[in-house]
This record gives sequence, structure tokens and C-alpha cells, in this order.
Amino acid sequence: MTGRTKIGFIGLGIMGKPMANHLIRGGHILFLHSRSGVPAELLTQGGHACSSPAEVAQNADIIITMLPDTDDVERVLFGDDGVAEGLSTARSKGRIVMDMSTISPAETRKFAAAISELGCEYVDAPVSGGDIGARNATLTIMAGATPSAFEQVKPVLELMGKTITLIGPNGTGQVCKLANQIIAALTIEAVGEGLLFASKAGADVRKVRQALMGGFAYSRVLEVHGERMIERAFEPGFRVELHQKDLGLALSNARALGVSLPGTATVQELLNGCIAHGGAGWDSSAMVRMLEKLANHEIEAPKDSHDEP
Ligand code: NAD
Repeated sequence: MTGRTKIGFIGLGIMGKPMANHLIRGGHILFLHSRSGVPAELLTQGGHACSSPAEVAQNADIIITMLPDTDDVERVLFGDDGVAEGLSTARSKGRIVMDMSTISPAETRKFAAAISELGCEYVDAPVSGGDIGARNATLTIMAGATPSAFEQVKPVLELMGKTITLIGPNGTGQVCKLANQIIAALTIEAVGEGLLFASKAGADVRKVRQALMGGFAYSRVLEVHGERMIERAFEPGFRVELHQKDLGLALSNARALGVSLPGTATVQELLNGCIAHGGAGWDSSAMVRMLEKLANHEIEAPKDSHDEP
């Protein structure tokens, strides 16, 4: 689709609001709906507020959802006044429903089949890169779609992200995103264990992190989350409850596949522990706090130590 496209956007929270903003700035016509209300900023930029997902679907050629969890997407697509209701007229055929939330791959395949029965296409296109990536339009986007549907949505995705990959058919975008969440969570845990060990052993953890940044243990997680652990900066970022939700999806889909994910299960327990301690809203790097409880030791950097420039 080229030129000015009519795009629907449902779910205008931390991620959805800046993403919709990029689409308006990209010259497209936006039809907007969110349970939390449509932010005034998007309306002054020219977006149109709709009272229901059905109204969005009646007006738009591509309908994007950016909602918290699987149940929310199901309700918005197939509930009363939902997207499917808005797509049930003959002139809606060929429209595209694109879910960019992180949800279950198995349910995604069911949603895709139901949307295809309406003569429309479904694209799962979850993202990685957080609120900063959403604001800077540098998201990594992993798509599950037919090649033709992917080609149609690609110019729209390019306004929101940088690395955009068609993984395969419906559901595989979500599979890729869950693989991302598994790797990120286990890396956060590994960085936590390494820094906790070094701290308990009496080393200057700022210097340890700095030394490791130049070696084989380097990762973006060591850089960003490692610093958060040392500086005790646990305001989110990516919330514990969202990472817990994603690992829950990974574990339940893995169980259905007969795949054992022992590391993921352990990290999920650390996130559960954070929630038990009132930390649903902490950054997920705070899982180190649960390791610290086991060790009866908190990571502490010497007061006079500094990062070298
Ligand atoms: P959020 O809670 O900030 O926003 C969700 C929005 O959906 C809210 O505005 C809410 O009002 C709206 N909503 C919920 N139910 C609705 C309904 N039934 N009808 C209409 N609107 C409804 O969440 P977020 O951080 O923007 O995350 C959205 C998705 O993106 C999640 O699946 C999350 O896992 C994923 N994600 C988040 C991040 C991040 O850093 N926040 C990064 C990558 C992926």
C-alpha cells in the first residue's frame, strides 16, 4: 500500500501512542481507539477518535492492535463491537489486521484463521526495543504473514521500526518474539549472578562490568541492565509483569510442544518473587533482587568508584 493509507490503531499506551504518532507524521490517516481514551496529542496531530474497535475496522484498510495480552486482543478482535464485527461487510474484503502486541503464538494462529474467514489478511508483528525504540521509530519487528500481506504492510512498519523481518507464516512472528524474551531474561539473570558473585567476593563491581564489556561476556544486557543493577535504578524500562507474562507464554507454548525450558522456568520464578515483593512495576533487571535474597547479599559498588570515561 503506498500513498496515504487509512490505518486503524487500537491500544494507545506506552508503545501504541508513539507508534501511532509516527504513522500520522508519515502522512497516513489514523482512526484511533483505546480503553484509556485517545491521547489529545494524537487528535491535535490530525488523528480521528473512534468509539469502538468495530468503528475503527469500518474506516481503516490496515487495523493495528497494540494491547497488553492475548485475552485483550481476543476481546478487541472478536468481542461485542469488535474488529470482526466491523469487517463483516462485503466491502471490507482484503483488509489487513495486524497485531503488534506480544501474545500467544497458538492463539495467534486461531485469530488469523478467523480473520481469513472474513476475507481479510492477518499479520502478527510483535516488536522489541521498548518504549525508547517506539519513540525513536527504531523497533525491531518480527512478522508472521503471507509474503503478499507482508509486502503491503512493510512501508507502514518502516515508519515505526528499523530491523523488519518476515519470519514465516502466521504465528512465527510471535514465536520469534518469545525466543527474544527467553534470551533476554536468561541473560539478565546471568548478568545478575555474575555481578552478585563479584560483589560478594569483594571486587569493585563497576570495574568488573567495565572489564567484561570488552570481552566475550559483552552484551547489551550487561551494558544496560548491569548498570541498572549496580546503580540500583529499577524504575522501568520493561516492567517485571510484562516479562513475566511473556515467559508464561513461552512456557505454556513449550509445554504444548513437549519442549523443556529449565532456564526459562527458573527465571520465571525470580520474576514471580519480584511480584510477591510488590515489584510488578519494577524494571525486569530487578530480578537480581531475588538472587540477592538467596545470597543474603546486595550488590554494592564502593562509594568512591566511578565508571571510567
Ligand atoms: P500499555 O498497558 O501501556 O498499553 C496498552 C493499551 O491498550 C492501553 O492504552 C489500554 O487502554 C489499551 N487497552 C487494553 N485493553 C483494551 C481494550 N479492550 N480495548 C481498547 N483498548 C484497550 O502496554 P504497552 O507497554 O504499550 O505494551 C503493549 C504490548 O506491547 C504488550 O503486549 C507488551 O508486551 C508489548 N511490548 C511492550 C514493550 C514495552 O517496553 N512496554 C516492549 C515491547 C513489546
